[in-house]
Amino acid sequence: MATFLFDDIVFGPVKSRRLGQSLGINLLPENAKVCNFNCVYCECGWTQASAGKLPTKQAIFARMKSGFQDCVDKNIEVDVITFAGNGEPTLHPDFSEIVDETIRLRNLILPQAKIAVLTNAGNLHKSAVRESLKKIDMAILKLDSAIESTVRTINQPAPGFRFETYIENIKNFPGRKIIQSMFLKYRKGDMFIDNASEQELEAWINALKNIQPELVMIYSVARDTPDAGVQAHDRKTLEQIAKRVQQTGFHVEIS
Ligand code: SF4
Repeated sequence: MATFLFDDIVFGPVKSRRLGQSLGINLLPENAKVCNFNCVYCECGWTQASAGKLPTKQAIFARMKSGFQDCVDKNIEVDVITFAGNGEPTLHPDFSEIVDETIRLRNLILPQAKIAVLTNAGNLHKSAVRESLKKIDMAILKLDSAIESTVRTINQPAPGFRFETYIENIKNFPGRKIIQSMFLKYRKGDMFIDNASEQELEAWINALKNIQPELVMIYSVARDTPDAGVQAHDRKTLEQIAKRVQQTGFHVEIS
């Protein structure tokens, strides 16, 4: 199906379902996806075995500076500067320096904008990644299921992934804990997964109780997916899930 890759370091701002006017930063190669997950619903398509060249930190700094200034010059509103793009932003080897420079440039050029990172949380075992994510306004951590077999099927983490450690790392994240969870149905041959089923929700809510997030963002598929077996959940299902999250005592947003 028609998935999509960003062809620049800075893109937008786009109206984000979750964040408002979002100016995107892509730390991954242009026109190639790099990720330590391979989600069946990824709007960037499948993770490629050998991807293109990562942009250098110098290129990123220069492009951010001109992109931020451009928004000011053209009077374009920016609510949030969001690290997203063609894969997992924390995989860039200079991620920590990039976060520091983003904060500096934001303070200088777009002081009203928040900084967000959409991350799959699969790199939280690295202390440098944890510390950098702690510095920004919103580290938005992926948790689509609290059942290992479901995570392995729909998120397809790279070899070496340890499920218990993944959950523990989210729980122990030292910054604001914001969880993002995608709800979907997925069929492949005889296998069918619905991560909004009762069994799934019970495990996920229990994980939330363990994690104690400040905010939970729930959403479903809105764009083309690489796997044709993926199906979206409707708004009504998301509202029912949101109600349970609220009843458990957590703030929740549907996007
Ligand atoms: S973690 Fe994000 S970028 Fe990586 S495969 Fe999943 S949806 Fe795509």
